[in-house]
Amino acid sequence: MEPFIRNDQYNFIKAQIQTVINGHATVNGEDVLSAIKSIAEERVFTLFTDMSEEQKQLLHPISQIEDKADGEAFLAQLKPYVIPFKEVTEKTIKKLFPKVKKLKLPALENLDRRDFSYLGWNDYGANKKYIVTEHNQKLIGLQGTFKRVHDKGVCALCHGIEEVGMFMCEKKGSSQDAFIKRGNYICQDSQKCNENLTTLDRLTDFVERLS
Ligand SMILES: [Zn+2]
Repeated sequence: MEPFIRNDQYNFIKAQIQTVINGHATVNGEDVLSAIKSIAEERVFTLFTDMSEEQKQLLHPISQIEDKADGEAFLAQLKPYVIPFKEVTEKTIKKLFPKVKKLKLPALENLDRRDFSYLGWNDYGANKKYIVTEHNQKLIGLQGTFKRVHDKGVCALCHGIEEVGMFMCEKKGSSQDAFIKRGNYICQDSQKCNENLTTLDRLTDFVERLS
């Protein structure tokens, strides 16, 4: 079976499993519990269209999960079916940001490419943040100024309440010399952000507005 689960979908499944585990810990009553399980399973199944029998078999044990250990074992079985992010090398990154002098590169070693929907890193010395993601099957790079804020806030990409910063970038306007500045509060820690993503909707929207 080929990998068929995206990082955000994997996170979504993880969240559903947490609901089931919490249900087991707090609810007394078979009926309520089985309702919680079937809702969780249904939500997971609606993520995918035209599932094969094998894929269904893989996801089906959601209804048997009772505790944290079951949940972890289930997620470990799913992991090989998570689609890795496109391979990114230093060369690829340099190509995506051709105009940036002294481009700070992210740490690419030991990255599990299954763990992210976008690659994001900070250059705090230059107050900048870089984002590489896939859009319409192509890798694209976004860069902007990044100013950390001291209070936690809601991230525009993952909707988690995290340590955020204002990511501001310039987009070419309709006339040649005009630039429009667009800003969003997003997570300082992009790894954490990727763990929080349970849908790609906001990321896609963000990329469309800024690129
Ligand atoms: Zn985030």
